[in-house]
Amino acid sequence: MATCFGAITMTIRTANKQPIKHNFIAGEWRPSAEYMENINPSDTNDVIARYAIASSNDVQDAVSAAATAMPVWSNSTSGERFEILDAIGSEIIQRQHELGDLLAREEGKTLKEAVAEAHRAGSLFKFFAAEVYRSETEGYRSLRPGISLEVRREPIGVVAAITPWNFPLAIPAWKIAPALAYGNTVVFKPAELVSGSAWALAEIISRAGLPEGVFNLVMGQGTEVGAALVEHADVAGVTFTGSTAVGRKIGATTFARGGKMQLEMGGQNPLIVLDDADLESAVEFAINGSFYSTGQRCTASSRLIVTEGIHDAFVAAMLHRMQGLRIGDARNPDTEIGPVVSEAQLNNNLDYLRTAKIEGARLLTGGEELKRPTPGWYLSPALFTHATREMQICREEVFGPIASVISVSNYDEALLVANDSDFGLSAGIVSNDRKIIDHFTTNVQAGMVQINLPTAGMDFHAPFTGRKNSSYGPPEKGSHCREFFTNSKVVHANYGERLKPKKEGS
Ligand code: NAD
Repeated sequence: MATCFGAITMTIRTANKQPIKHNFIAGEWRPSAEYMENINPSDTNDVIARYAIASSNDVQDAVSAAATAMPVWSNSTSGERFEILDAIGSEIIQRQHELGDLLAREEGKTLKEAVAEAHRAGSLFKFFAAEVYRSETEGYRSLRPGISLEVRREPIGVVAAITPWNFPLAIPAWKIAPALAYGNTVVFKPAELVSGSAWALAEIISRAGLPEGVFNLVMGQGTEVGAALVEHADVAGVTFTGSTAVGRKIGATTFARGGKMQLEMGGQNPLIVLDDADLESAVEFAINGSFYSTGQRCTASSRLIVTEGIHDAFVAAMLHRMQGLRIGDARNPDTEIGPVVSEAQLNNNLDYLRTAKIEGARLLTGGEELKRPTPGWYLSPALFTHATREMQICREEVFGPIASVISVSNYDEALLVANDSDFGLSAGIVSNDRKIIDHFTTNVQAGMVQINLPTAGMDFHAPFTGRKNSSYGPPEKGSHCREFFTNSKVVHANYGERLKPKKEGS
């Protein structure tokens, strides 16, 4: 069954020494008519490589190869699936420093965060390798005597995995690994800005022994390559992570043609700090939640909702801490905050900063473009005070190193402000009052809650999910994601007397 592409390396060099990377379709690395450059946001003179832009024929061929491979892969044994997924996970973990360095180079996440993400991507493959041994069939007692009742799980078919740039290894891993584990075939369309990490992941998967066509990589623009996939009648399900605007468009198209979908989208996440909070911890959670990964996390704590009694001390401590943050080249091990991912994203952040000032928020610190030894998209983390819940920076997803402090009089008001959002992904509270924490946990409108912790979604064995405009469809990660990656089949059976086991001695 296994096809090994181990010897194939499709890196060829052009006269100007930029490596060229192809798409992976039907078991082959396929050249393209057009290529796009991938640039290091910490040093815009550094071109990482040129990546193939898939044509509409390429998309067609990738889906067709994936559909053709379905009968083979859906009938593969648990052991075969385990070996392949486990081997992919092992190689990613073994190469985590190299993969993390590439991720930091093309996305701007600090080396520490990038290596941790690579490790997590490997662990995700290992987790879903083990999941293949979990029984997919559930038995029930029928209401009718003598009738057997079971619910089987079957793969859905060709899965399109469309991913954003901010977690270029972990998010593809938590879509591709379960898709394969549950017996589906995959066409992977990564975000344009992070083709390097996607290609490196695809290269590892291409050598793991999957039959031809089970896994395909098509790189290129979302509006063309992504849209063609979403519209394709042979794509049974779309697992998408990205902005709410794009997610809604994809959702409407997928729904209209009867496809299955799993959409993880934007956030505008609150962190409540109450009077009784430990100040030092609250500041660390806010710094981490708001600014790590340059604030480019769907779970970023962009609204810091702080009660009056601790407000001034919290703001002063934040200012002190922020002035010491080391902002620079993502690959420098001393850097705490890397650059913004691209010029377009930087301009977007600058627009939010301008509007916030016009609307009356007061910029306490940051929000300045910074010069570093190499040219890059550097922005100092910004903190606004005197923010209100009506302001654009508190209503829309900012997706940059910008946070706002909203002052409130008590916990009740804090909860009201936290829930006054179109999003509902992650919500945090810093307090030692168990009664209030219980109330918050029950009443906050979010898919994930953090109590005396920075925002996070790192536990790959637990579901990752949101409410309102943040998520649609079954959760990702953990065993819960099988709701998306499988279809149920309910089997009622009457096996009759003849099939009953004979009694001993008869
Ligand atoms: P994006 O929506 O611009 O793009 C996401 C992906 O969709 C990319 O691969 C893109 O090429 C593709 N795409 C764009 N238009 C398309 C179309 N018309 N049809 C099909 N595909 C299309 O998002 P982004 O800028 O790459 O990532 C940032 C966003 O991702 C933020 O909004 C962030 O909150 C969100 N995000 C959400 C989660 C979560 O789990 N909720 C996690 C990470 C990122």
